[in-house]
Amino acid sequence: MIRRLPEGLVNRIAAGEVIERPAAAVKELVENSIDAGAQRIDIVVTGGGRDLIQVDDDGSGMDADQMVLAVERHATSKLPDNDLLNLSYLGFRGEALPSIAAVARMEITSRTRHADHAFRLQIEGGIAAPPTPAPGRFGTRIDIRDLFYATPARLKFLRSERAELMAVVDIVKRLALARPDIGFSLHDGARRLLMLPPTADTPANRVAQIMGSDFLNDSFYLNEGSTDVRLSGWASLPTAARGNAAAQYFFVNGRPVRDRQLLGAVRGGFADVLAHDRHPALALYLEIAKDMVDVNVHPAKTEVRFREPDRIRGLIVGALRRNLAAMAPRATEAMAKRAFAYTQQAQDLPGSVRPTASAADNMGLFNTPLQGAFAHAAEPSARYLVPDATNRGDVPSQPVGRMGAARGQVHGTYIIAETETGMILVDQHAAHERLVYERMKADLADNGITRHALLIPEVVELDPALVLALDDRADELAALGLAIESFGPNAVMVREIPGHLGKTDIKGLVSDIAAEIAELGSSETLRNRLDMVAATMACHGSVRAGRSLSGPEMNALLREMERTPNSGQCNHGRPTFVELKLGDIERLFGRR
Ligand code: ADP
Ligand code: MG
Repeated sequence: MIRRLPEGLVNRIAAGEVIERPAAAVKELVENSIDAGAQRIDIVVTGGGRDLIQVDDDGSGMDADQMVLAVERHATSKLPDNDLLNLSYLGFRGEALPSIAAVARMEITSRTRHADHAFRLQIEGGIAAPPTPAPGRFGTRIDIRDLFYATPARLKFLRSERAELMAVVDIVKRLALARPDIGFSLHDGARRLLMLPPTADTPANRVAQIMGSDFLNDSFYLNEGSTDVRLSGWASLPTAARGNAAAQYFFVNGRPVRDRQLLGAVRGGFADVLAHDRHPALALYLEIAKDMVDVNVHPAKTEVRFREPDRIRGLIVGALRRNLAAMAPRATEAMAKRAFAYTQQAQDLPGSVRPTASAADNMGLFNTPLQGAFAHAAEPSARYLVPDATNRGDVPSQPVGRMGAARGQVHGTYIIAETETGMILVDQHAAHERLVYERMKADLADNGITRHALLIPEVVELDPALVLALDDRADELAALGLAIESFGPNAVMVREIPGHLGKTDIKGLVSDIAAEIAELGSSETLRNRLDMVAATMACHGSVRAGRSLSGPEMNALLREMERTPNSGQCNHGRPTFVELKLGDIERLFGRR
């Protein structure tokens, strides 16, 4: 027996998709405020959003009959010409308010610019009472109480109050990054969690408000593309990458998205300079012609579909790689700061020598060890600093760049260089490893891929879906030196592998590649493996820590770092050098 479901039940089903947790309700309400042209949006939650979610805006407001329509299913003011490929608003489905109202107690208070008072509408478990006049400012305030009281099953699936609150904070941050021109505040009860005044013209200020000014200092800005697609924003230096992907913010036409293809492209862009478990922090904005992207993919609208996915991926991967490679070697400021904070801590330890007024009075006490130190340095056998004569002698013949002039080597491991603005400490092994690696990659690019035909083709058994995925990209893989053909529905046959790989675990390689193609729609793995082999060889071919270097050798290394792309980090994303500005050094000694 087929029957039509009652409206209330339909709404509860829709709520299951759209409002899976309190943060999702916050997202829908805030998006409505943004769509209403708000300049200020104030959010209050209690109980992680389960007890109360209140969103108050100064947007257009609604009059009484609009309010009645707003809580009806599939009622929207945002699709004036019924064209799903020409969206000017974040909303368009007309589902959020009725869905929330079906599973919670909702109160809407709203006043338009030409009304002399507000109206209030109350709706509980999907049943609305007619709007009544009420006091209220221009704009709209929506109060949601007891979210999911009508769907006890959903209630059981919620995480802890704290976890739900964190999700709310995260979504508000995302929306605030998407719209720097709007002021946002977020409170947990009376506790202020976010206070973000509107920031004019540049998103940089909002990015700093949310991601911290350290992020901006330790990131690079990019802005690339053409008239119909443009990517702009900030990504962190590889050395400032983090242990998880939480600080990756992506926006498509002002809409925060969490899209696997986009995050996959970011991974591709950084593949070469980061270990697999490190993630760059980023705030990236993709602006794309409306008819080239479909956001009507998922009820929560956090995924998008591109008309030309490969082009978008190429733009992101290419832009990140180009900008990373073009960067002058740059050490993270955070790294120097951390070192700096550490030395300060050490100074604060009780009993350590500290330049205080009373210490100054006791200068006599200082003199003994200091004199001792100078005496030692003056000895001809002092081995910590390479005698100046040899170094300084070389400098004029070679122009000194951003990495400065080598002044010495300590512990056979670190090079100290003097720059115009401070000093640099280089990890010689990490730096050299990167240089050798980049050289080998360049060689691979210039001289191409060599192929190694297998005497006996290897058959690899795979899931039929993975066989299809590989088959689909066979041409691309062949171009990289991996010749594969399907061998029945459950296996592939490998005839050729790239010569650079040497002896390799073919089964492992092929199944990793297949899984990656299936997941991301393209293969970074093969390229990575080639790079990885190069990286491993680079590691063996480079100077070890512990080898002493001559002045000319050190300077040559510094000059090559200046010329080589990506030389600011080793192949695993660790820094190859740390910089201390003169100002930092002066602060260390209390001169500032
Ligand atoms: P959608 O946003 O997809 O249109 P919603 O259910 O979220 O669907 O909202 C329904 C309608 O209610 C919107 O189209 C809009 O006209 C109106 N509305 C909702 N929230 C607000 C608000 N904060 N200010 C003004 N109008 C609002
Ligand atoms: Mg909406």
